[in-house]
Amino acid sequence: MREIKRVAVITGASRGIGRACALALAQPQTKIYLNDVANWDAAEQTRKDVQSRGAEAEIIKFDVSNLAEVNAGFEQITKSSGRLDILVNNAGIVQDNLVVRMKEEQWDRVLSVNLKGAFNCTRAAARPMLKQHYGRIINMASIVGVMGNPGQANYVASKAGLIGLTKAVARELASRQITVNAVAPGFIATEMTEALSEKVQSEMLAQIPLNRFGTPEEVAAVVAFLASEAAAYITGQVIHINGGMLMV
Ligand code: NAP
Repeated sequence: MREIKRVAVITGASRGIGRACALALAQPQTKIYLNDVANWDAAEQTRKDVQSRGAEAEIIKFDVSNLAEVNAGFEQITKSSGRLDILVNNAGIVQDNLVVRMKEEQWDRVLSVNLKGAFNCTRAAARPMLKQHYGRIINMASIVGVMGNPGQANYVASKAGLIGLTKAVARELASRQITVNAVAPGFIATEMTEALSEKVQSEMLAQIPLNRFGTPEEVAAVVAFLASEAAAYITGQVIHINGGMLMV
């Protein structure tokens, strides 16, 4: 068996951007843990595709919002792999509503998965990374976490919170050569955005100077770069991938 040199965990890796990140990180001597919560068939397909690129891959089931499940999952990973180099906090959901109509459960669930989930995984991953004096943490934020968006108060707050979490943890972990960055995609063609009405999709398109939606692979390429040795001097940053929709 070939020696494993890099161990990565990607949350929400069964489909969409998470799956593309797994494929972008897939190289020989890399082991990728594909976290998923419900979609077993899609996760299994991602596992096969990652392995066909020469990496090792294993599905690890946990709900990122559940602290006990997350801790047990990361314990299993570090016990069997002995290290952890890369964490991609990608798992995310939407439950849209205007703020006056938003139910407490919608607010709580979205914050719980998107923000607390990233905190749970970051804390669990930071322990082995601190011991190694090495790590790469990449958080999947969103353009709306910077711009705002009507009808998404819960989602926007979670993504803005994730950007704050990124900067705080980047400062805490920098002395051990652990970098923490966020990527902020604009409108990327996945199941999450397919669910939007045609009207909303065409309104979005009109705001994108490059005049098209992004692909999961275009986001994953930036994640792979941030996870690489070449990005060693980048930390606490938010990298925007949005076709020019927002220029900061
Ligand atoms: P997606 O196609 O809906 O996929 C979401 C993934 O997250 C799925 O693998 C899903 O697992 C997983 N997931 C959901 N809840 C989870 C939980 N509690 N624990 C563990 N995994 C969970 O979404 P996407 O478009 O690829 O988005 C991925 C990330 O990018 C999200 O954080 C999203 O907010 C962000 N983003 C997306 C866009 C966009 O335009 N698509 C733009 C900006 C930011 P199951 O398959 O088991 O349900």
